[in-house]
Amino acid sequence: MEVIWVYFHNMKVYYLSDIRSTDEFLPLFWSKLEFGELPLGQPAETILPDVRVVFGAGKRETIASELRRLGLSKALVLATPQQCDAALEIAEQIGALAVGVFCKAEMHTPVQVTQDALAHVKETQADCVVAIGGGSTTGLGKAIAYRTDLPQIVIPTTYAGSECTPILGQTENGVKTTLSDPSILPEVIIYDSELVTTLPVSMTVTSALNAMAHAAEALYAPDKTAETTAMAIEGLTAFIEGLPKVLQDPTDLVAREATQRGAWACGTVLGQVGMALHHKLCHTLGGSFDLPHAETHAIVLPHAIAYNARAAANDLQPICDLLGGNNSGTALYDFAKKMNAPTALRDLGLKEEDLDRAADLATTKPYPNPQPVTREDIRALLQAAWAGDTPLK
Ligand code: NAD
Repeated sequence: MEVIWVYFHNMKVYYLSDIRSTDEFLPLFWSKLEFGELPLGQPAETILPDVRVVFGAGKRETIASELRRLGLSKALVLATPQQCDAALEIAEQIGALAVGVFCKAEMHTPVQVTQDALAHVKETQADCVVAIGGGSTTGLGKAIAYRTDLPQIVIPTTYAGSECTPILGQTENGVKTTLSDPSILPEVIIYDSELVTTLPVSMTVTSALNAMAHAAEALYAPDKTAETTAMAIEGLTAFIEGLPKVLQDPTDLVAREATQRGAWACGTVLGQVGMALHHKLCHTLGGSFDLPHAETHAIVLPHAIAYNARAAANDLQPICDLLGGNNSGTALYDFAKKMNAPTALRDLGLKEEDLDRAADLATTKPYPNPQPVTREDIRALLQAAWAGDTPLK
């Protein structure tokens, strides 16, 4: 059997290819382990708690048993207003284990919404949250867990990957801040491929590119390891192979599950290594210009990667290997166009006169990035991304 990569945990070694055939496994958060030059089987420690991850069509049916396994009996089910039906369905399915449904999750996790939800937690005496939705709903669950330490079961319905990270971004008075804490990481993630079939095709594409962005930046992260790189490549491969199949038939559960496994790999590396220019630009454009999250990631990704390919072409070579071509940024641009992704920030409502301020905001504070960040170069990158032009090399 081909060994794809290895997990260390409590002195045991797990081969992903061995456990991949089962639809349930306990992924072991390995990248915070002290790998160094350790030979196989040496003891290692993790600073992150284990997270139980379940894949499979119809696996939402196991929520009740997951709750019982954790000794929980009072779940507050969370969703956005758009996915309230899905939340109500889950509440009905788990019956007496649900104490309420809160359908007000919003993008960028406004603190006001969290406070509203916390009032429901108190009123219902909930002992856990069950979040069904994309990164916005997951964000609300994380915000509650951060403040109360309540356990979370997350049922992701996009590819954003927030469920895999101990990172919480939240907004208050128009300012988005990010923090990280072990309490933010969910206890259980259930990837049910049936639930992602309702994701509109356009959102499927942009959300997939959002996930791929985590993996792409993980390839040149200063704190990357051989294992995070392997996982990033695994995530990219899952989308590059799986997304065309999903677009051909959005109800193809095998292809949907393959892309969800990709989302898990991409989200996990996001939580394990530092991100750079691409995430900085998207954070700026989302936080200060209110651009939609996944679409912004989809448009900026080829430009940010082409920019960093000037200094990190070797690190980014896996993208060329997977997509063809000799520049990872233009390869991603061509892939995105083939998948009918949006390519121009102007189509998201960003005004050309905003580009100067965006360039200022994205370059005021220094951060690690393979290619040195200059205001002039970032302004040029943003101009190309705004117009939908081929990335500047
Ligand atoms: P989202 O959660 O905002 O979802 C977008 C819309 O699509 C919502 O209306 C949602 O209800 C709907 N939707 C989601 N799944 C659906 C489905 N299967 N069928 C029908 N409709 C569906 O979008 P997102 O891109 O998943 O999340 C974006 C948010 O997540 C942002 O706030 C971003 O900052 C955050 N995020 C955080 C992290 C992290 O690690 N902290 C990582 C990635 C994203």
